[in-house]
Amino acid sequence: MKVPKGFFWAGMQAGIKPNRKDLALVYSDTPCSAAGCFTQNLAKAAPVLDAEKRLPADGIRAVVINSGNANALTGPEGLEDVKTVCEAVAKELQVGAGAVVSASTGVIGVRLPAHKIVSSAPALAASLKADPLLAAEAILTTDTRIKLGTRSVRIGNREVTLTCICKGSGMIAPSLATMIAVVATDCAITPPMLSVALRQAMRRSFNALTVDGDMSTNDCVFALANGKAGNAPIADPGSALDAFSGALDELCQQMAKEIAADGEGATKLLDVSVEGAPAEDVALDLAKACAGSSLVKAAIFGADPNWGRVLASIGARAGTAGYAIDPADARVMVQDVAVYDRAPLAYDASVLKARMREPEIRVTVDLRRGEGKAQAWGCDLSYDYVKINADYTSLIVTKPDGGVAKDDRLSNYSPTFKVKLLVDALEYIKKFSGTRCVIKYGGAAMVKESLKKSFCDDIRLLRAVGLRPIVVHGGGPEITRTLEKLGGKAEFIDGQRVTNASDLKVVEMVLTGSINTELVTLLNGNGIAQAVGVSGKDGGLIRARKLVQEGRDLGQVGEVTRVNRDFLEMLLQQGYVPVVSPVGLGEDGQSYNINADNVAAELAVAIGAQKLIYLSDVPGILKAGELIGQLTSADLRALIDDGTIAGGMKAKANSILRVLASGVPSVHLLDGRVPHSIIGELFTDNGVGSWIRA
Ligand code: ADP
Ligand code: MG
Repeated sequence: MKVPKGFFWAGMQAGIKPNRKDLALVYSDTPCSAAGCFTQNLAKAAPVLDAEKRLPADGIRAVVINSGNANALTGPEGLEDVKTVCEAVAKELQVGAGAVVSASTGVIGVRLPAHKIVSSAPALAASLKADPLLAAEAILTTDTRIKLGTRSVRIGNREVTLTCICKGSGMIAPSLATMIAVVATDCAITPPMLSVALRQAMRRSFNALTVDGDMSTNDCVFALANGKAGNAPIADPGSALDAFSGALDELCQQMAKEIAADGEGATKLLDVSVEGAPAEDVALDLAKACAGSSLVKAAIFGADPNWGRVLASIGARAGTAGYAIDPADARVMVQDVAVYDRAPLAYDASVLKARMREPEIRVTVDLRRGEGKAQAWGCDLSYDYVKINADYTSLIVTKPDGGVAKDDRLSNYSPTFKVKLLVDALEYIKKFSGTRCVIKYGGAAMVKESLKKSFCDDIRLLRAVGLRPIVVHGGGPEITRTLEKLGGKAEFIDGQRVTNASDLKVVEMVLTGSINTELVTLLNGNGIAQAVGVSGKDGGLIRARKLVQEGRDLGQVGEVTRVNRDFLEMLLQQGYVPVVSPVGLGEDGQSYNINADNVAAELAVAIGAQKLIYLSDVPGILKAGELIGQLTSADLRALIDDGTIAGGMKAKANSILRVLASGVPSVHLLDGRVPHSIIGELFTDNGVGSWIRA
């Protein structure tokens, strides 16, 4: 991406938000002309109060922006905090204290933890690069996408570049602030001319934008111009200013559209053009009224070409403002299809409805009353907007150190949301109740104590809603650790452990003596003793013989020959959750260590399970680092053959092929390092890992 000469950006995590980048810096290596446009809200944030009185100005070098806290309605301390932040950043950049302006976005009414920004300033300055991406990420709040754009334009014989980062109007609650934009350009232009150009661009872009009509306390748009393009400085109106303005308009419009499309809960961008108005101002006002109408927005969400609502919103605004127009005389187009022209028109409703499912919806109104025309942007009004708005503020909590966090435990949601969630969940419960399901808990995924606990919580929940789980556990890493402690060494061939006779004692000790016991204890921790720990040797549950793999001797490693189905049935019938340690009783009377993936598969086949779930230490089956969400046996075989699947995954993949061929309808491979991934897979339509079917 082309960026203006002499500009550098940085973005990092300063701990204002719990887990995301929240601090950004835009810096020019030479002094800039700077201009700003600010919110008209009288409840202005402290950084806005500070920057507004200092711009337009010469000699500005940097803008520092934090997300996660708006520093609005924070009293005199808020202004002190702005000063502290600007001074700390200026010192780090070795520029004058007056050369830095700031902006903040996030929660209103909570004091800014300025000390976090101060202590992050050295790292922030040290990470400046000629790349705006991390800064664009750090200013986001409820946005779902980075908003970043660039334009180049020739002025005189020089190429001038403009780059904008901005964050949008995820106005999820009135207490959260909305948009911030910083345009950096290497154009040579005086502060007053930059201010004129910025004001004009605003009118045609960010001011023509509506998501939910709430005006933020923190909106601000900055423009910084450092002159490094070497064009003759623009000091007066004329063709050079027009060329610069044209590029700035375009860039700001692109950003405004991206903000609209990413509005809270939005599924579509709404683009309203009003033409034939008595004046441009009138056209803009009417276009905004239409784009902001809740009824129009709801119709757009429902893919309904409801021109009645379009004209009603325009008529209402024109009536209250006293504009000389007549909606009845207008022509309305939706997705370029004429739907009204001085009278309702006949159109193919199914064709138009299909076109209204596109991500961008154009509504055009010709008022036939003059030359004025304008465009405004908004988005549709979805169920999600209301759902999130109804619940969001109650989920934001202040932390003792001044940061904010989201506490989204179900108890903080509104009763309506909880009811909806339960109704959804009960549908899945109905579907899975009585289902037999074998779950293999991978050794690599069970290293963290907290994960073992959340795994056991999930199993208990599944049991409580009528699922019949059987747990098979691995123990690889722990076996390896114990062997090493005792002076031995782990050896693997194709993901299968090589086990000599003395190692086998250690294997049994760890698997049956330690891991199995621990899981059973955790599962029975709530006082209801439903988990029963069994080794494959108990009751001859798993009979085995020595595994011979491609002619190599793996020692006491076995493969399953038979399963004592009656024993397992008995446990299930009695309502127990069997927890199986993957050791088998040899047909020759010896003990064998069996790969747990293999044991899980054989048990699933033996009891006719509807599901087999592998919890491992990867998000699922990966190809070139990407998760494959759904695949068939044939896909899986191809991945084994082309070498994509290797190591420990190969034992799983072979077991999966075997169970699918034997009538188990679906196998899931999930990330056991993510808490509650079993619940996420079973209780959502798309699941969270890889889902493999025959
Ligand atoms: P577990 O204890 O769950 O059996 P393993 O280490 O035996 O864990 O098997 C999982 C490992 O398989 C992963 O950590 C990964 O390194 C390896 N693997 C090899 N190929 C793939 C693949 N295509 N997709 C995912 N994991 C793979
Ligand atoms: Mg393994």
